[in-house]
This record gives sequence, C-alpha cells and structure tokens, in this order.
Amino acid sequence: MTSAGRFAPSPSGELHVGNLRTAVLAWLFARSSERNFLLRVEDLDRARSGAEAEQLRDLAAIGVTWDGEVVRQTARGPLYAAVISRLQAAGLTYECFCTRREIQEAPSAPHAPQGTYPGTCRNLDPAELEFKRSTRPAAVRLRAGVREYTVHDVLHGAYTGTVDDFVLRRNDGVTAYNLAVVVDDAEQGIDQVVRGDDLLASTPRQAYLASLLDIPAPEYAHVPLVLNSDGLRLAKRDGAVTLGDLAAEGFPPQAVRDRLLESLGLPAGPLSQVLTAFDPAALPRKPWVWRGMAAAGAS
Ligand SMILES: [Zn+2]
Repeated sequence: MTSAGRFAPSPSGELHVGNLRTAVLAWLFARSSERNFLLRVEDLDRARSGAEAEQLRDLAAIGVTWDGEVVRQTARGPLYAAVISRLQAAGLTYECFCTRREIQEAPSAPHAPQGTYPGTCRNLDPAELEFKRSTRPAAVRLRAGVREYTVHDVLHGAYTGTVDDFVLRRNDGVTAYNLAVVVDDAEQGIDQVVRGDDLLASTPRQAYLASLLDIPAPEYAHVPLVLNSDGLRLAKRDGAVTLGDLAAEGFPPQAVRDRLLESLGLPAGPLSQVLTAFDPAALPRKPWVWRGMAAAGAS
C-alpha cells in the first residue's frame, strides 16, 4: 500500500485559521516526503449539516489537495465492529457500566492522572455482571496490559503517556475516537500522522492499541496550536477566523494561506512551490498567536 499522510477534521462547523494551519502542515509533511495525502471526515460524534462541504471548499481554496475519495467514519461501522470483536475474542475487552459521574467520583489509582479510568468494572463477578446488564447498556473498554506507553514524535521526541482501560465503544453504541482513529489510519495505509499537539496526550493510548492489533506505529508530528490574543486555543468566537470571515474583510484565501506560511517561517506562494523550503526541523515549536490579518508581519 502507498504510504500516506492525512487531515481528519470533524464536520462541526467551518475550519478556522488554526485548523487550516494544521492542514497546511499535514499537507507539507506528506507531500515533502512523497506520500499521498488523504482526507477523512471524523463525523462519528459531531456533524453539522453542510459543514463538510464548507471544509472541503476551504481546504481547496488554500491549495490543500488530496488523493482519492474522502472517507467518512459513519460509513465504517462494520470495520470498527470487526476490530472490537477481534479484541473481545482475544480477551482484551470488558463491559463497563459506569456513568461519567461515577468515574469522576471514584477514587483514582495512586499516581494516575485525573480522568484515568480506575478499573471499577474490570473484574465484575458473573452475578454483578448479570445485574448490571439489566440496569443499563454497557460501554466496551480495553483491558490494557500497561499503565503507560512511549511514542516517538518528530517534534516532541520520545513521549511517554498514560494508558488506561479506555473506551472502545461508548454505551450509546458509537465507536470511540481512540479506536476509530487507529483502525482508519491502518486501513487507509496512513503511516504519518500530523495533527494538533492537544492530541499528543492521547497518542500513547492509540499507539498501544495499534501494537495489540499488530499495526506498526505511524510517524507522529504533533504541531503547535494557534492561540488567541489571550493565550487560549483559538475558537470561532475570536472574531474573523474563517476564510469566509476574512474574505468579508477583504482578504482572499491566497492572502490567508500566505499569512499561515509566514507564521511557519516559509515563503509566500502556492503550497507546491513551498515544498522545497519546508524543513520539519526548522518549524516553530511554540504556539502561534493569531492577531488577525491586519497584524501581518507583527507576530
Ligand atoms: Zn465501569
């Protein structure tokens, strides 16, 4: 299978300049290493009607091209179910009946970070299991054999993070992100994952799951996020942050693309002409603060 990189947005709304900057980076990483570049719509959870079409339009407008058909996670339920069945058959899962509140209120294991599942349902006896099954639907959790796992990231080096008995399928039947992302990347031949560094902490879980499924870990590059002027993660409420907003202010998509490239220390111009100047080792390692197009050059 041809190796590939990818961009995988959730179709919850229009992309903002932070999302677009990550897409440009993912494209540059993939194309500069002669990989294909795939687009996957992560619509298991949050999808707003029309958002996918807007996102594809905006990516194309700044020159982010992709290969083949766009893949949608909602069309891949049987694939996820087959992998969960395989893990179940191998004894690597268990049913969990905990509510969110019960997990929050449970005493966590010593030294475990907040939010780590304490393993409440890991060893229910048959009578308890039967009773709980009659009370509410179960989520499916991984029976993890490690407490932490180390991944290697192009920008962060070796990164060790927590692995708990994380959810594979929620109790509403929806496949969990950590399972879907691993299955999709493997099935699509994706061997390079470039995404925002807010996802670095969940990467050891995904890489550990991949190892259980005999999937080689991809090359990871977790890139800095774009922040607003208060130092918080950029969001729609931060003013003119989408291509549509910025066009209304008189800035065409090419100008926004050039601003994003400038923030990466790269020359302006079509992305294909920037490839030779792209060097992952020279990328800024700090978040970029978005102050609007009018502040161009003043970062
Ligand atoms: Zn539980």
